[in-house]
Amino acid sequence: GHKFVSIDFANTYTKLPERFYSRTTAAPVAAPRLIKINDRLALQLGLDPVALAIPEGIAVLSGNRVATGSEPIALAYAGHQFGHFVPQLGDGRALLLGEVVAQDGQRYDIQLKGSGPTAFSRRGDGRAALGPVLREYILSEAMAALGVPTTRALAAVTTGQKVVRETVLPGAIFTRVAASHLRVGTFQYFAARSDIEGTKLLADYAIARHYPEAPKTPHPYRAFLDGVISRQAQLVAQWMLVGFIHGVMNTDNTSISGETIDYGPCAFLEAYDPAKVFSSRDQQGRYAYGNQPAMMLWNLTRLAETLLPLLATEAGGDEAGLASAKGSLAAFEGIFNKALHAGLRRKLGLSTHREGDEALAVDLLSRMAANRADFALTFRTLCDAAASTEADTRVRALFADPTAYDAWASAWRQRLESEPASAHERAAAMRTANPSVIPRNHLVQAVIDAAIQREDFQPFEEMLDAVSRPYEDRPDLELYTRPARPEESVIATFC
Ligand code: AMP
Ligand code: MG
Ligand code: MG
Repeated sequence: GHKFVSIDFANTYTKLPERFYSRTTAAPVAAPRLIKINDRLALQLGLDPVALAIPEGIAVLSGNRVATGSEPIALAYAGHQFGHFVPQLGDGRALLLGEVVAQDGQRYDIQLKGSGPTAFSRRGDGRAALGPVLREYILSEAMAALGVPTTRALAAVTTGQKVVRETVLPGAIFTRVAASHLRVGTFQYFAARSDIEGTKLLADYAIARHYPEAPKTPHPYRAFLDGVISRQAQLVAQWMLVGFIHGVMNTDNTSISGETIDYGPCAFLEAYDPAKVFSSRDQQGRYAYGNQPAMMLWNLTRLAETLLPLLATEAGGDEAGLASAKGSLAAFEGIFNKALHAGLRRKLGLSTHREGDEALAVDLLSRMAANRADFALTFRTLCDAAASTEADTRVRALFADPTAYDAWASAWRQRLESEPASAHERAAAMRTANPSVIPRNHLVQAVIDAAIQREDFQPFEEMLDAVSRPYEDRPDLELYTRPARPEESVIATFC
């Protein structure tokens, strides 16, 4: 017979005490059909993409069969949802199949999302609808191609079953790859139960997996907290630089590894607006674009609170532990600003750092906000303007009042005179910092509509190809570089 789908799964999380997870098997689905395998990612993970695409592979990706070596579990976690603490959330519709060690030597989780109810489902059905599965696939792969740390899309299948949301929708299952699924909320789960032993086991597991340098320092738990804060500060700076709005920055959606995780009602900014919100669930604007750094710090403060017993022990007392946590959190702003400002300089073609650079960037952004200039297209067109003033006409046209650009452009050009690079080199460097293609919301919606209404996945394939090469200028991708017309504009996103 043919070679059976074999995945060399490890299951290190199942070696932790039983209160960390619940052993669960996926609920079988009626008629699984493959939408997509991410061949390149499969190969990087040491998996055979051809074996995943045959019926036995699709059975694994739909939860109809447990792969040899897999010990599926739903992970326990808590979390603050929109500021309100829920002591038990957990994987209500996801299943960790196991871990694989990739070609890069790193360990990755392979998780099914939408695979049926678990012990943590509460009132949910444990399922996922096709639209959000396609959105997560496209947006997470777009973020990876943009160079932003993120979970990845390995596969998507339809289930042949319906799910009931506001309407009846086709069901789907997403296969997610993550450096791990440890969240701030995982730490909160143990802290909320005053389970210091559990907190310590979890911290030691997280350190071994993500921060192996920490034990070599005098204060390992402080080094761990510093590490998470540093990675998350840099991550949120990258979100700001590409115009990403996560949408549900609850503490259960903030990863310990420093990856973007849990793509729900997320979206990319179009017209620049710090107050922009897409999520239908975020009426207050808690997770608005411009609020994301503050919300990340709030989430990291919740993480620091859970670590206080460990910080106190290693620092030699409660007071010293508290001071340690505060010192760690105090670094967030500086790390964030440094990453943001370095990124803004790259976006503006500044290879050196001069006083006034940040003010120059902030001035452009406030003019863009006042004039509803498209975030991605303005910066991409600036790449051309860096090479030749002839492109100014096209940048100006992106501002409601084109003269708002002129005053800024002359200050920018003056600053560029003190740059060592040639205009040509500068434009080329800027084209690696300012994407041409982002997953624009009206096109994501068109992809979802085609899939739901006509079972047509061609727009999905085309968009995936486009967002996978975001820094290229390709005439055939013009569609993906253009902002939505008013009548195409997507007002809200759902998960
Ligand atoms: P999220 O808003 O995606 O971060 O999910 C928050 C919590 O709700 C997590 O514990 C999820 O597992 C759970 N959840 C979301 N959707 C469902 C569903 N359809 N069925 C069961 N649990 C769900
Ligand atoms: Mg979540
Ligand atoms: Mg979610």
